[in-house]
Amino acid sequence: MYNIVIFGAPGCGKGTQSAKLIDRYGLTHISTGEVLRKEIADGTELGKLADSYISKGHLIPDSLMCEILAARIDSLLPSSKGFIFDGFPRTITQAEELKKMLDSRGQHLNAVVGLEVPDEELTERLINRGKISGRADDKSETIANRLEVYHNTTKPLRDFYINEGLYNPVDGTGDIDKIFSSITNIIDR
Ligand code: AMP
Repeated sequence: MYNIVIFGAPGCGKGTQSAKLIDRYGLTHISTGEVLRKEIADGTELGKLADSYISKGHLIPDSLMCEILAARIDSLLPSSKGFIFDGFPRTITQAEELKKMLDSRGQHLNAVVGLEVPDEELTERLINRGKISGRADDKSETIANRLEVYHNTTKPLRDFYINEGLYNPVDGTGDIDKIFSSITNIIDR
């Protein structure tokens, strides 16, 4: 199996590049944001709880998020050639838990791809996406919170994965196909 984390700030292109990676490598995509949005759309108890965090741009608590992810991994593992983790981990605790989760299932991470995009461009992309996505968290106050949470809580993972020897930075600006080919170069290596 080949397992990767696609890492970066909100709006850096994780979803776009994940879709292309699924096509190319047949990997199984796990987007924690999508899992939570589905729960919200279905009106489940978990969805209601998740919405109270997401709509403010806050993170769902680590213990709950890790439980959701473990269940998702277990349901998909038997038929998977490998996972693309998109939007997880977002905290050091989640990264440590992911390592344990994979380890206990005889798996490990092969690479972390970090899509690097300046804040001004992220904000512009998220505002534009909000006009078409209808996502409740793509509005300007929530975007500012999400970027702050990214810088304070999620960005330290970059150093975490550099120390693990797994981090591969990719310039996430410019042409989508050019970015994709930088990512495939990393994977094919
Ligand atoms: P995303 O689609 O990845 O941008 O996620 C949308 C929102 O879902 C985030 O702003 C968080 O509120 C929540 N979320 C998604 N993934 C996680 C995670 N790994 N840990 C905590 N909250 C998350």
